[in-house]
Amino acid sequence: MASIPEPVQNLVNAFSRLPGIGPKTASRLTFYLLRGSDDISLQLAEALVRLKSGTSFCQNCFNITLVDQPLCEICSNPHRDETTICVVEEPLDVMVLEKTAGYEGRYHVLHGVLSPIEGIGPDQLKIQPLVERVRSGRVKEVIVATNPSMEGDATALYLRQQLTPFGVRITRLARGLPVGGDLEYADQNTLLRALSGRQEMG
Ligand SMILES: [Zn+2]
Repeated sequence: MASIPEPVQNLVNAFSRLPGIGPKTASRLTFYLLRGSDDISLQLAEALVRLKSGTSFCQNCFNITLVDQPLCEICSNPHRDETTICVVEEPLDVMVLEKTAGYEGRYHVLHGVLSPIEGIGPDQLKIQPLVERVRSGRVKEVIVATNPSMEGDATALYLRQQLTPFGVRITRLARGLPVGGDLEYADQNTLLRALSGRQEMG
């Protein structure tokens, strides 16, 4: 059996490391690019390079921002209510919530959730910068919008513990989101309902 040339195998391997892409899809994508016009490959290659080199994380909320802009679009928008912070797991969650167009406040991206099994503790997440933001005094409400999973709930409880001393209102998105499901899979109406029906974390 003829072996697959290395450049081909390399790309198959790279695709295989992506979530949701098995070996079959990886091969299909690779051979599609091999057959297709140079344009498609070059555009993809350039976009991949720019993805990392052109972006960084917002110094305030850790959402994605352009590399030459220390603050993201939301943090630098004076019309966004700085007294409300919605805490999410990933930058993708910010995008999902922004699409609902039903939230006027700011965000804070944790970049994960507490997970003792995977060895992820508070120090691996952007929890301390959140505490500092709340300590700064302008924040009145923190909406914890971590996913309705075991880790998401545990993280919410931990945040409540950390933020309670500051006397801010701490709320959690209303149930109604699919349990165990990620925010990104909820439809916009469900998300809007979860936002408006948010409850105090008692
Ligand atoms: Zn920001």
